[in-house]
Amino acid sequence: MPTNDNDISVVYTYLMCESCRFVDRDSGREEPGYICPRCKQPSGDGLEFLNLNASVAIRLIRQAWRERRSATETRRPDLDFTARHVRQIWKDLPPAAETRQSDSELTDLELRLITFYCMLQEILMEDFLWSSMAVTGVPVKLIERTLRDNWSISKREDSLFPAVTGTKFREKIRSVVSNSEVATRLLDVWKRAIDARNKFIHGGGSWSIPDQIDHLAESCWGNVIPLCNAFVGLHNQYAIKGISD
Ligand SMILES: [Zn+2]
Repeated sequence: MPTNDNDISVVYTYLMCESCRFVDRDSGREEPGYICPRCKQPSGDGLEFLNLNASVAIRLIRQAWRERRSATETRRPDLDFTARHVRQIWKDLPPAAETRQSDSELTDLELRLITFYCMLQEILMEDFLWSSMAVTGVPVKLIERTLRDNWSISKREDSLFPAVTGTKFREKIRSVVSNSEVATRLLDVWKRAIDARNKFIHGGGSWSIPDQIDHLAESCWGNVIPLCNAFVGLHNQYAIKGISD
């Protein structure tokens, strides 16, 4: 997990070759005329791997994390969730208004972070599917229609991703992420974040705060970098152009 919230800026250092679309952290790609080590073509002025929407989602995640940390630090330790309920049960005291407000604020921030993380997952998935279809020459109108027909993240994960790559999403993530523990955590958060978001939207009264998002916001924050790294790995396998000798 990034210890400093500026550490997450490392995801913005991924650059893409304008000719062969290969992605790495070679900062030389920002220099006009730089020769791509892979395709030997001159660079323009560098192309960022993350599209604008992904960059915005990461900025929003970081902002929510900063505010959550600030809210956590200012919360009085004797008024945490457990202590508040013990006081209520054994002393028959109503919860203090400021405590309810503090818990509610914290929950809102965690929910924001989880929602933005889901957005990031979906943006990276859409960008990957788009790029991997485009590189094989699929016409833009057909790509647009295919993505429209598979609009939900579950359809994209379960149907479209295997159709494009020939492999199930979870298996492929495990093969592009070399560390198996990192891959397991990433896939666990991928599913839990989507489930939490869906329960919030569709669950009505069954949405239970804070149990369902316990530690999830923290896990989302800790997986932003591995998530971006995984999609760079996918991109370099399926969305780059072949090179002729
Ligand atoms: Zn290149």
